Amino acid sequence: MLTLEIVRQPRPTQPPKAAILDFDGTISLIREGWQQVMIPLFIEVLAETSGGKNETPKELEHAVREFVDLLTGKQTIYQCIQLAEEVTKRNGTPLEPLAYKHEYHRRLLQRIHHRLDALKTGGNPQEHLVPGSYDLLQMLRQHGLTVYLASGTDEVFVKEEADLLRVTDYFNGGVYGAQDDHKTFSKAMVIQRIIAENKLQGQELIGFGDGYVEIENVHDIGGFAVGVATNESERSGIDDWKRNRLIGAGADLIIPDYSDIKQLESQIFGEEAH
Ligand SMILES: [Mg+2]
Repeated sequence: MLTLEIVRQPRPTQPPKAAILDFDGTISLIREGWQQVMIPLFIEVLAETSGGKNETPKELEHAVREFVDLLTGKQTIYQCIQLAEEVTKRNGTPLEPLAYKHEYHRRLLQRIHHRLDALKTGGNPQEHLVPGSYDLLQMLRQHGLTVYLASGTDEVFVKEEADLLRVTDYFNGGVYGAQDDHKTFSKAMVIQRIIAENKLQGQELIGFGDGYVEIENVHDIGGFAVGVATNESERSGIDDWKRNRLIGAGADLIIPDYSDIKQLESQIFGEEAH
């Protein structure tokens, strides 16, 4: 079975000294299925506009999927800002983007609250992690990397969910998430900070993500970008849609998850890893 696919460079050109990881879909599966909450909500909103009434459900779905996807990895508010713009384009009067974000989050919590409850009452975190996540984090730390978590989900939730999944301690660089004042946070800003703090070259950064934005950000500074294309609902195998998007964003490698950690380790760090 294909476990690892080399798309661009086979391995980093410099030994990586720091790693930046996305959270949802890259480590955590707690919010699995968020797209099935956001996309129908956004279609619902656009279908109520006068312009939207002239579009077929398929056309609306296509429009929504396209921008939701391209903004995946950015803070959620950006998808809501774009929704407001799409409402205006269709001669509607948009709500404040924050109102869309609150409604999205209310519906998402309905979908995921049983997972949070299970974790809070002693459930096994492994069931809500991308397979092999602990092995990946351990491996990166063993190689001496400073490891950072950066997520487009609100920082309070990221911190709580990272604690529930018992991964917080691995992130010796820190845990960063979306802020109420969205202009004060972006993954590109975290990357700039990592580079400055550690006096790194771009090539010494390795990034792991399942979203367009983080892969593009890492690729843009010359880092090594690992696209994590997990089929989240099965927790196994590749999601082709994600794979194609991640390749388009600049991924160097595509992996389904971290269950073959030895293969991934020798790919990143060379044969001496064994
Ligand atoms: Mg993600």
